[in-house]
Amino acid sequence: MDTKIFDIEKLNLKEKEKAIYEASQAIKSGELVIFPTETVYGIGADGLNYEAVSNIYKAKGRPSDNPLILHVCDLDMVRDVTDCDLGVLEKLAKAFWPGPFTAVLKKSEKVPLITTGGLDTVAVRIPDNDIAVELIRKSGTPIAAPSANISGKPSPTKPEHVIHDMSGKVKIILCGDKCRVGIESTIIDLTNEEPMILRPGIISATQISKVIGRTVAMDAAASIKNRESENDVNPKAPGMKYKHYAPSAQMIILQGKRSDVEREITEIKKQRESQGEKVGVILFEENDFENAARELFSKLRKMDDDGVDLILAGALDEKDEIGFAVMNRMLKSAGYNVREV
Ligand code: AMP
Ligand code: MG
Repeated sequence: MDTKIFDIEKLNLKEKEKAIYEASQAIKSGELVIFPTETVYGIGADGLNYEAVSNIYKAKGRPSDNPLILHVCDLDMVRDVTDCDLGVLEKLAKAFWPGPFTAVLKKSEKVPLITTGGLDTVAVRIPDNDIAVELIRKSGTPIAAPSANISGKPSPTKPEHVIHDMSGKVKIILCGDKCRVGIESTIIDLTNEEPMILRPGIISATQISKVIGRTVAMDAAASIKNRESENDVNPKAPGMKYKHYAPSAQMIILQGKRSDVEREITEIKKQRESQGEKVGVILFEENDFENAARELFSKLRKMDDDGVDLILAGALDEKDEIGFAVMNRMLKSAGYNVREV
């Protein structure tokens, strides 16, 4: 398939409108469109169209029991795809939408089971990106859009990442800026008495608790630290059980005091390089967790582009809630290969 690529940021207002209109027509006729969001780039299709959604799974090589998030432009669209009172979501929406926050609710009849991976619940969010919201509005339908990467690979946060993974597989790519957040949305399940975070993100349990005035649970799957417990815990977000974010290179996370981690990295690097291996290092500023979120996937992809054999990464402080969310991804990237130093 010929993929049409629009560099939205380089277009004038009129051309931009035309490009988004063309993309919305593609969505309406069941085609795939890639678009930027503030979290990562999404590969989108009409979330109410069975055929269109099934093509997302095909393009990504995604297992069909891994449900998709419906991207909507307002609360009316949320009401349309859900089968319950919005309840506490009205407050959460006011606080966090548009933004990197996804709510899981009971689905309405309208939403095909292919979108929800066979579940009777549906995940929804309003993204904080003008191109995305305009595309949804013009399409007039919720857009199912998982991250626009080949399944298992790091999520795409820059236009070149989606062009690399998805050229020839989708009708249109809308290239925008580099993603501001860089990791996927916080997912919260609101279908039970106690709200539960299924996937951590930059919107934290503490922030959510404050808005709704009650405690928020964390799904045990979000805190898995090794491969063995991966087999024991059944995550409530089906996607959390799959291999994720994996670079081609081997990856080791070094955990400990910063000075010890730095020394260990220097030593391992020297030793492996003497054996002819190419070694890459990912060591974020200790307290700039938002930067780590923004840069992680892009750094992992760069390592692969550079043909690195081994990635040595410094662990982040998981006591910080954003640090915890980034570590959730880093651990999966490394296949839980952590070394205490
Ligand atoms: P992605 O869009 O690639 O970030 O993946 C979407 C994530 O949302 C996956 O981890 C899914 O398992 C999760 N998800 C989507 N819909 C639901 C749902 N109805 N219940 C629980 N998790 C969901
Ligand atoms: Mg994904």
